[in-house]
Amino acid sequence: MLKYYNYDIVFQEIPNEVTLAVNITNCPNRCKGCHSKHLQQDIGKELDENCIDGLMDTYGAAITCFCFMGGDAAPHRVAELADYIRQKFPALKTAWYSGCNKLPGNGFDVRVFNFIKIGSYIEEMGDLRSSTTNQRLYQIVPDGTMNDVSYLFRQH
Ligand code: SF4
Repeated sequence: MLKYYNYDIVFQEIPNEVTLAVNITNCPNRCKGCHSKHLQQDIGKELDENCIDGLMDTYGAAITCFCFMGGDAAPHRVAELADYIRQKFPALKTAWYSGCNKLPGNGFDVRVFNFIKIGSYIEEMGDLRSSTTNQRLYQIVPDGTMNDVSYLFRQH
């Protein structure tokens, strides 16, 4: 089961998109210098199909992208919900911010996302806006090819 702590409409996490970013809890990563320690706890409300329908009723007309922030404890459930969004709200893009350094195995289908960010948070290397970051944002094209678009964060 996925749970979330809160959500917000953001403009910087996915370039050129108005994104509803949902902060998922029970993060199994233990990044040194974690900027959101509360997200390591198993707290919050369940994020499921009904919850997504409710969020879409409220925010669907205002956003162009739905981003799962975290969910590394249950990545296949993240992909399942992303697929649900793509089928039910085809105009919307889907994105996933993972704190892991590589993608999950076991048939994880990246094609249910338009964007995937991977890479743990390393304080001294910074996040995607830093030129020294270890993190990468990929745009996923329909055949599953992952194009590194991290440079978009450093064009301004
Ligand atoms: S991925 Fe790392 S920085 Fe993000 S919530 Fe989890 S432990 Fe914290």
